[in-house]
Amino acid sequence: MRDFFITNTLTRQKELFKPVNSGHVGLYVCGPTVYGDAHLGHARPAITYDVLVRLLRKLGYKVRYVRNITDVGHLEQDADEGEDKIAKKARLEQLEPMEVVQMYTERYHDAMRSLNVLPPSIEPRATGHIIEQIAIVKKILEAGYAYESNGSIYFDVEKYNNDHHYGILSGRSLDETKEGTRSLDGQGDKRAPYDFALWKKASPEHIMHWPSEWSEGFPGWHLECSAMSEKYLGREFDIHGGGMDLMFPHHECEIAQNVASRGTAGVRYWMHNNMITINGKKMGKSLGNFITLFDLFSGNNSVLSQAYSPMTIRFFILQAHYRSTLDFSNEALQAAEKGLARVLGAANDLNAMATAAGPVQGEPSKAVTDLYEACYNALCDDLNTPIALSYVFEGVKMVNAAKDGSAKLSAADLQGLKKLFDEVLFDILGLQNEATSDGKSAAIIDGLMKMVLEDRAAAKAAKDWAKSDKIRDALSALGISVKDTRDGAEWHI
Ligand code: ZN
Repeated sequence: MRDFFITNTLTRQKELFKPVNSGHVGLYVCGPTVYGDAHLGHARPAITYDVLVRLLRKLGYKVRYVRNITDVGHLEQDADEGEDKIAKKARLEQLEPMEVVQMYTERYHDAMRSLNVLPPSIEPRATGHIIEQIAIVKKILEAGYAYESNGSIYFDVEKYNNDHHYGILSGRSLDETKEGTRSLDGQGDKRAPYDFALWKKASPEHIMHWPSEWSEGFPGWHLECSAMSEKYLGREFDIHGGGMDLMFPHHECEIAQNVASRGTAGVRYWMHNNMITINGKKMGKSLGNFITLFDLFSGNNSVLSQAYSPMTIRFFILQAHYRSTLDFSNEALQAAEKGLARVLGAANDLNAMATAAGPVQGEPSKAVTDLYEACYNALCDDLNTPIALSYVFEGVKMVNAAKDGSAKLSAADLQGLKKLFDEVLFDILGLQNEATSDGKSAAIIDGLMKMVLEDRAAAKAAKDWAKSDKIRDALSALGISVKDTRDGAEWHI
């Protein structure tokens, strides 16, 4: 098996990957809180860990990939006080919380499928693991690292920090943590502002709650990942991934919970992907630059000058190393669209040339085998996708030169390059030919959808319900759903 090197956030070192059980990899990644549509920020971890899983499987490992769905306990501002994000959405939309969860989980899956992100091996939900979470709270209480206060249970950070290091992952001292937390979080029933909730007593207006010996309540947000990773991957597993914004407090709290309840931090390698900015700024609803993935696919957002195909977005994300920040702009996406068209065009030409060249005799030239090795070396060097892509583009140059007659490639070279494209570009990086990859088809679909929806709006204005329903049903049969909004209609495939 080839060596794989991974940058471990915990040690801040690039390390040779050695799994707990040889040949098997346990991977846990924090999934979305499903109270709204997936946005550009969700695409990056999904694609990063998808490439990791694809690479490890290609290298010969059996991978169990667990990515959770957060459907309870994630409160507004990621804090310990305030409304549950899902319950709030349910209240605003007059739905059951589980209707919100179901709807946005389905829509998340749709977006992931479009991006050619493989489904995880297990996708557990927090609400399905309340019993396991309560059991961990009990263990932490028994170990003396938690206390009860008015029916809620809080983790005693100071006591834990006397025996262990709270802040080991993010590299903070308790004093630094104190400064960061005070302003963010109301103290409420806690002894110290940086203590965090393991179990919260539900207030009367809090609609999602379960019985426990302490109170009718709900688990703290950080607890679910400790419970579900242990349940499906064991006390000690290989890789825990997530966005850098989850490093503190979410993952820091997870480590503290693991140590306090089972005596081990539980994770060998912590892996964090960096963030995506939009035109140099953090993305946020309040900043007016919030882009969902469906907005990107349809072009329906004032920040966007056009629609971008899912593969363009995937290619754009892979052009940066996962540990670097990545800035979204229309110019950058348009450049990615061109780059993708170039590489997919060469892949098609290569297929045609390899078929036409007939039977293969001998081995590919050193130039071709070196390129193949260089691609794998880049990917095995902490998932360096931009370097791997730069080698794929060396292959594109060779294909284009053979096509215009300025250089020759033997049948064995063509087969060697085809193997490189098939394995690296399609199997591991997960790019694929798509009807809309040239951008033109996307624009055509966009224009047609605009016409159809205008027609439907006119029918509705004329109270011709039969016609407007007929249009909606016909679109639905094509796999296009339409949602009426205040200023018209939104659609997605
Ligand atoms: Zn998590």
